[in-house]
Amino acid sequence: MADTPLPPGFDEYKMARARRAFESALGHRKVFFEELDRTGYQDKFAVDDALHHPAGAIAPESVEEVQAAVRIANQYLLPLWPISRGKNLGYGASAPLLAGSVVLDMSRMKKIEFDEHLGTVVVEPGVGFYDLYDYLQANDLPFWLSTPGNSWGSVMGNALDRGVGYTPYGEHTKQICGMEVVLPDGDLVRTGMGAFAGSDTWQAYPYGYGPAWDQMFVQSNFGIVTKMGLWLMPEPESLMGMDVEFDRPEDLKAMIDTIAPLRRERVLTQSPSIGNWLRAAAVLTTRDEWTDKPGALGEDVIDKIRKTFNIGWWGVSLRLYGREEVNKAAYKILEKAMNDIDPMLIKPTSWVKGEPLEHTGWTGTPMTFPMQNVNWYGGRGGHIGFSPIIPQDGTKALEQFRRTYARYQEYGMDYQGSFAFGERHMINVNAMIFDKDDPEMMKKVDPFFRTLVQDAKEQGYGEYRTHLDYMDLVADSYDFNGGALARLNGKVKDALDPNGILAPGKSGIWPERLRGSNAGGGRRS
Ligand code: ADP
Repeated sequence: MADTPLPPGFDEYKMARARRAFESALGHRKVFFEELDRTGYQDKFAVDDALHHPAGAIAPESVEEVQAAVRIANQYLLPLWPISRGKNLGYGASAPLLAGSVVLDMSRMKKIEFDEHLGTVVVEPGVGFYDLYDYLQANDLPFWLSTPGNSWGSVMGNALDRGVGYTPYGEHTKQICGMEVVLPDGDLVRTGMGAFAGSDTWQAYPYGYGPAWDQMFVQSNFGIVTKMGLWLMPEPESLMGMDVEFDRPEDLKAMIDTIAPLRRERVLTQSPSIGNWLRAAAVLTTRDEWTDKPGALGEDVIDKIRKTFNIGWWGVSLRLYGREEVNKAAYKILEKAMNDIDPMLIKPTSWVKGEPLEHTGWTGTPMTFPMQNVNWYGGRGGHIGFSPIIPQDGTKALEQFRRTYARYQEYGMDYQGSFAFGERHMINVNAMIFDKDDPEMMKKVDPFFRTLVQDAKEQGYGEYRTHLDYMDLVADSYDFNGGALARLNGKVKDALDPNGILAPGKSGIWPERLRGSNAGGGRRS
C-alpha cells in the first residue's frame, strides 16, 4: 500500500487522529481515507498528478457538518480543499493544490430553491448543471441555464472559478446574487441582503448595505460557500443568429473589430467565441485519421480538415435572444456587419417558442461532448488551458495569435485557440491537448506553458484562471507596486484564516505559516 500523502507538520499518527475526529463528527460513511478512495480525488489531467494527491476526503451533508469539519481542521492545522462536484477539468478537477490536504467534497449537498417570479435560484454546492436542468424541465419553469462546454460540474463551482457559457447570462460569476459562507473560523455569514434576517430580497439585490463581499469568495480561499444565489435568463420568445466562417488567419482582426463594438453597444448581448478549425476535428475525429506525422499539423492537413467539415480558418457563432421583432431588426445589423468583412460562409439559424429546441450551449442545454477533444492524440488524453485576458482590439489579438501559434509550432503541438468576447475584454483560451501516454510530449507541456505565460506577460496580458500547477506563477505575474495585490490577499488570508486551514496556495494565496516555505512543493516557481 502506498503511504498516505501528508501535509507539512503531519505524520501518519497525527493524520489517523484527524481521521478519527472526522469519523466521530460525521460518521464513517462520510470519511474516505483508503487508497482506493483517494484515487477518486486525483487530477487525471495533471502533468504529474502525484504532486496533488490528497490524504483523504470527507463528504459533509449539511452546513453544521461543514462547520464541524472546519473545527477539526483548526484543531489539527489540517488543510481542507473545498470542492463542489470537482469536475474542474484542466484546472485541477477534484485534487488539492497541496498534497496531503483533505478534500472537502460537498457534492452531496444538493438543495435547489427556485423563485419562479424572479427567475432566481439558490443552489447548494452539489447541484450540477444537469440537476438544475432536470429541475427546470420537471417543474416546467420558463427559464434557461447558461452551461459551460463541459457541463458535468456544478453550477456553484463553475461560477466560483469564473467559468463561462454562451447565452447572455454566460459570464457566470456576474449572475451571483448572495451567498452563504462558512468562514475558516467556523462562523456562518450571509452576504448582500442575506445579512438582513428575514429579508426576501437576498437574490434580488446583490450588494446589501456597506461593503459587498460576494466576489471575495470567488477564486479565493477565504471561505467555504454553502449556498449561492444566481439569476437565470427568462426563456426568450425567439433565438436567431448565424454561424459565420472566415477563410484566412488574418481575418481575425476584422472579425474582432467588427463584433466588439456590437457587443459593447449590446446589439449582441451574449458573448461570441471565435474558434479555429481544430474545434470540429478534435471532437469528431482523432489525429491518426488525418496524419501519422509528428509535430504541429501542416497546412496540407489543415486544408483537408477544413474541406471535410466545410469550415474556415476561424468560425464564430452569433446569437440574439429575446422578442422576435427585436431580434429580426438586430439580425439585419449583424448580417450586414458580417457581409461587409467578406466571410466565406454565413449559415443562418432561427427558433421561436413552441418549435423543437436544438440542444446546444446556445440554448443552455448541459453537454459534455466538447470534452471529446482529449481523445485527439489517442492514449490517456488530457488538457490544460492557457487563457490570458487581452484587449478588444483586432490588431493586438492578431499579434497575440501569431505569437502563440508560432509557439505551438515550435513545440510541435496542434493549435486549438479561441477568442471569447466579454463586454470590454476578450479571453484568449488556448487548449493544450496532450496524450499522457506519450512521455516525449508530456515533457514539453510545462516549458511550453511557461513560455506562453512569459510571452503574454511581456505584452501586459495576465491569465483569468489557471491550473493548480501554475497558480503561483500566474499570481506572481500580477505585480503592480511590487505585488501589492498579493500583500493585500495575504493580509485578508491571515485575518480570516489565522491557522491557514483553507485551500492553501489557491490562486497563489498562502497562509502565513506556509508562505515562502515552498511547502506547496510541486511546481512553485
Ligand atoms: P465543479 O463542481 O463545477 O466541477 P469544482 O468543485 O471543481 O467545480 O470547483 C471549482 C473551483 O472552485 C475549485 O478550485 C474549488 O476549490 C473551488 N470551490 C468549489 N466549490 C467551492 C465552495 N463551495 N466553496 C469554496 N470554494 C469552492
